This record gives sequence, C-alpha cells and structure tokens, in this order.
Amino acid sequence: MDTKNRNTFIVRCGEVALKGQNKPFFERLLVERLRKALYKFQALEIKRNEGLIFIKAPREYEPNTVASEISRVFGVASVSHAVETESELEAIGLAAVDYMNNLLETKAFHSFKVESKRANKDFPMESPDIARYVGGKVLIGCKVLKVDVHNPDCRLFVDVRRDRTYIYVDKTAGFGGLPLGTNGKGLVLLSGGIDSPVAAFMMAKRGMMIEAVHFHAYPYTSERAKQKVLDLAIILSEYCGKIKIHSINLLDIQQQIAEKCPEDEMTIITRRFMMKIAEIIGKETNCDVLITGENLGQVASQTAKGLVVTNQAVTMAVMRPLIAFDKVDIMDLAKKIGTFETSIQPFEDCCTVFLPKHPVTKPEIENILKSEALISENTLINDALKTREITLAQIRAL
Ligand code: ATP
Ligand code: MG
Repeated sequence: MDTKNRNTFIVRCGEVALKGQNKPFFERLLVERLRKALYKFQALEIKRNEGLIFIKAPREYEPNTVASEISRVFGVASVSHAVETESELEAIGLAAVDYMNNLLETKAFHSFKVESKRANKDFPMESPDIARYVGGKVLIGCKVLKVDVHNPDCRLFVDVRRDRTYIYVDKTAGFGGLPLGTNGKGLVLLSGGIDSPVAAFMMAKRGMMIEAVHFHAYPYTSERAKQKVLDLAIILSEYCGKIKIHSINLLDIQQQIAEKCPEDEMTIITRRFMMKIAEIIGKETNCDVLITGENLGQVASQTAKGLVVTNQAVTMAVMRPLIAFDKVDIMDLAKKIGTFETSIQPFEDCCTVFLPKHPVTKPEIENILKSEALISENTLINDALKTREITLAQIRAL
C-alpha cells in the first residue's frame, strides 16, 4: 500500500530499549503483544527498526483510536501519530508544511517550534540546521503561524532516519513497563476493593501474567458482589489479557473461625486461610507468586506484625506491590486504569460479613497457631476448594 494512504505510528519502547543482550527477545514479545492488541484493525504492518517499533495502518482508522490502543500495551513508553516522507530535505519541508496545514484545520494554535533529530548521520545537514530549514518553510507555507522557541503552542518533531523521515506533534504516554509474558505468572487475591485490582495491574505492568482467586461468603454476600469482581477482572483484562478467576466460598471457614477462635483473631486467621487456599491454587496453576493489595498500616490486619503472621501461612512468595503507597495514590492509579468506579460500588465483601470489634494489631504466631488448632483445617480447606467456580474475564486478547 502506498504510504500516503497509511497512518504511521512510532512506538517508543521505554525500559525494553535499555535491555542488553536480551533486547531482541523483549522487542519481539512486545511486537507480538501489539499485534494481538490491535487484532481488530486489518492490514497493519508492524516492524522493529533502530530501537523503535513502526506501525502502519490504513487511513480509514481514526489515528487517536489506534494510538490509544497502542498506548495501553505494557512495554510502550509513548506513541506518536506521524506522517512519513523520504529523507530528502525538500521532501521533508513540503511534508512539514502539509502536515501543519492539516493540523490547523482541526486545531487552533498560533506559535510553533521545530525540534529535529538526526539518527542518520549521513544526512547532509545537522539537527539545528534541519530545524531552521523546516521552520522557515512552515513560516512561508502557514501564514498564520509564528515561531516561539520558548513557549510554543505546538512542537513539531522532525525525526530524520536512514530511509524515511517522520514528522509529528504529539506523544501519547504509555504505561511503560515490560511486555506481558516476560516475567512469569502471579495469582492475585482479588477482592472487590480498590487495592487488589491495582496490585494486579502493577505486577502485570512488569510483565507478569495474571490469574485470580476471589473469596465470597454466598449467600451472605450477593451474586452482585461476585459480578463486581468479574467486572473488575474484565477491566483488568484490557491490560493483562485473559484472566481466569477461581471463586471460592469461604463461608463455612468463616463460621468455624467465628465459633471456635478468639474474636479479635478472626480477621487475621481468615486472611491466613485465604493465603493457604490461594497457595494450593497457585501451585496447581503453575503460578510463580501470590499477589495481594496489602498495604502497610492501612487497616488493623495490615500492621507489620499482622502482615508477617499472614505471610507465615504460606511458603510461596507473596508480592505486595502497594505495600508503601498512600491510599490517595492507589486511588489515583485506580482512576487512571479505570477500576475505581467499579471498586467503590457498595457491595459487601466476605471480610465485612464477620468483622471483629477490636481486631488484634500485634498478633503472635504462637497464639494464632494455637487458635487454628481448634478447627479442622484440612477438611475445611478441601471442602472450600470443592465450591470452586471458574470464570474467564476477557475483553482484549493479548
Ligand atoms: P482491597 O481494596 O483490594 O479490598 P483492602 O484494603 O480492602 O483491599 P483487605 O480487605 O484487608 O484490604 O485485604 C487485603 C488484601 O487481601 C486485598 O488487597 C486482597 O489482595 C486480599 N483479599 C481481601 N479480601 C479478599 C477476597 N474476598 N477475595 C480475594 N482476596 C481478598
Ligand atoms: Mg478488601
């Protein structure tokens, strides 16, 4: 297809670009993820070149829509919608004028500045001179525009490469991180709250595939509460690809704990049961780690001692990416990734069904183990596992 009939997108790879010998492996995976993420657009060409990824799409696709899809793939630092021309001075000047005139039709601005980069050192002009030349052409070709080098309304980037030159104004920021599938698989303990979906997102952003386990206390918790967790997983699948959710009924376990263990230890013992069940599922599904949305000091069960005692329930590694975040920052991230509005829907969680008045904040493992000896752990866990339902959440194939 003729380049005039295509939109070009320049994808910058952020941290992937810093990789040493493994760089081709990361780049190849990123290209594969981009290909899957953009499956609904036909006739795309995706190519790696000189540390960047170039995506060419037929003109009929709205550039902002394509750029937005690209920006939500982990490993993408930023993306620009560009026009391309041959790396020849006169052609570059003409293309820049054309580009700015087109832009003026949709956007009101008065001043501009040209910023030029020359990856092709054989090009017979240095970057500042290219910028000056192109700026001169734009001034003549777009009469309404003035140059402002300090505070321009619009920055016009001219990226001169070996064969082709790319011209663009905007950079849509991506999330950065590493391509999915470059860092094993984690089982997230997914509640309906604000934190755990953000925790899953953070780990997926570092290249980890995600599977989920959710605990409910049906019929004390409603079908709607279960649906809320599925809704959250669907939003996450936009970034993480398909997510398998294991739903487990924890009610019998909670009732036994409430009946037989000291009231102030109820939350911490319940959390330990969640971890033990998660560990069984995690091992069975070949997950490398467990992931939680726990955060130091956020609630009574998440004191330093509380977290240590929770952790001692399992031998599998537990990753807590939000451990030192402030709640406001977690909420900001939840808003940015789109889970916040769903997370704040007021449906009960199994933890809120049996809530002690004064939960222990400095649990001692010896005491907790003594209390747990009062209930038949293995039978309860096996019975809970029999209640398992598996659901798939998928909005985008990655
Ligand atoms: P969230 O906002 O994710 O619900 P939270 O601040 O409410 O977290 P807790 O309820 O104490 O904190 O739970 C801490 C972590 O334990 C959660 O982030 C999640 O990983 C896990 N967790 C809690 N409840 C459940 C549940 N019902 N199902 C699965 N995991 C859970
Ligand atoms: Mg919660």
